Parts: sequence; structure tokens; C-alpha cells
Amino acid sequence: MPDSKINSQTNSQTHSQSRPLPIRVVGGGLAGPEAAWQCARRGLAVTLCEMRPVRRTPAHETDLFAELVCSNSLKSDSENTAPWLLKQEMRRAGSLLMQLAARSSVPAGHALAVDRSQFSNWSPKRSLPSRSSASSEAR
Ligand SMILES: Cc1cc2nc3c(=O)[nH]c(=O)nc-3n(C[C@H](O)[C@H](O)[C@H](O)COP(=O)(O)OP(=O)(O)OC[C@H]3O[C@@H](n4cnc5c(N)ncnc54)[C@H](O)[C@@H]3O)c2cc1C
Repeated sequence: MPDSKINSQTNSQTHSQSRPLPIRVVGGGLAGPEAAWQCARRGLAVTLCEMRPVRRTPAHETDLFAELVCSNSLKSDSENTAPWLLKQEMRRAGSLLMQLAARSSVPAGHALAVDRSQFSNWSPKRSLPSRSSASSEAR
């Protein structure tokens, strides 16, 4: 690796260690709220931007964060299946989406299925620390 590259990495690491840069997560679908949540849990200031209140998408029907555009089934929750293992890893990582799923689950045999509107009834204002925020904008 050329010296200049090493130096620039070292400089940026030093900078980020002394003063974490504010984080902006673009998109409040499924991945965005989880990313914002995980940043906020670690004490980082994060802004979550979602465009739907001002610009619609062909897939989404609401302005809500964490809207499920597809099936309400998060697949099998039977122990030792691959979908269960993935969800267990998310649970152990303190996943926001898994918490939303737990509080909105509906009977579905061995699957974890959710009530869509309860699942998406998540407010960053209530859930994220005050240093963080949510905004309705397109980036
Ligand atoms: C009809 C349909 C069926 C599907 N079925 C399944 C399924 O069965 N299983 C499955 O796993 N997946 C399915 N999917 C895919 C599903 O959409 C994704 O799994 C999931 O929504 C991906 O999450 P995401 O956070 O990456 O994207 P999204 O949930 O789409 O979130 C992206 C967000 O970013 C916002 N955004 C985009 N551009 C900007 C911008 N410039 N500025 C601000 N905000 C912006 C959008 O408004 C949106 O809210 C389906 C999709 C569709 C359309």
C-alpha cells in the first residue's frame, strides 16, 4: 500500500476516534431504521431520512417507517432452521426489527408472521435518543 494511502487512513481513523461524524441514514424502509437504531444504541448521533411523505414509491402504501411491502411472514421460527438462525442472530444483536416483530406477531404455525400496521408503528422520535432525529426528505 502506498504511504500516502496509509497516512490518509491513519488521519481519518484518528479524526473519527476523537469526534465521531454525524451519521445520515437514507431510507426508512426495513434496513434504514435498523441501521439507525444500531448506530443510536452505540451512542452515535444519527439522522434517518425518508422521502415517502414527500415522494411516493410504486411499492409502498404508507408514509410509515419499516413498512413491509411484501409478505407479512418472516419465515420459519422453528429451531435450527436457517431462517430461525438468522433471526436468532438478529435478536442477539439487539435488532429493532426483531423487537417490532415480537410485539406485532400473529399466529402462523411455525412461522413468525406479523400484523403489518403494528409492525410499522414505530416512531424514531419515541425510540431514538434525543441526539438523533428523523426527517422527511429525499436525498
Ligand atoms: C411486491 C414486492 C414483493 C416483495 N416480496 C418480498 C418477499 O417476499 N421477501 C423479501 O425478503 N423481500 C420481498 N420484497 C423485497 C422487499 O421490498 C425487501 O426485502 C425490503 O423491503 C428491502 O428493505 P430495504 O430497507 O432494503 O428497502 P425498502 O424497504 O424498499 O426501503 C427503502 C426506503 O428508502 C426510501 N428511499 C429511497 N430513495 C430515497 C431517497 N433518495 N431519499 C430518501 N428516502 C429514500 C424509500 O422510500 C423506502 O422507504 C418484495 C418487494 C416487492 C416490491
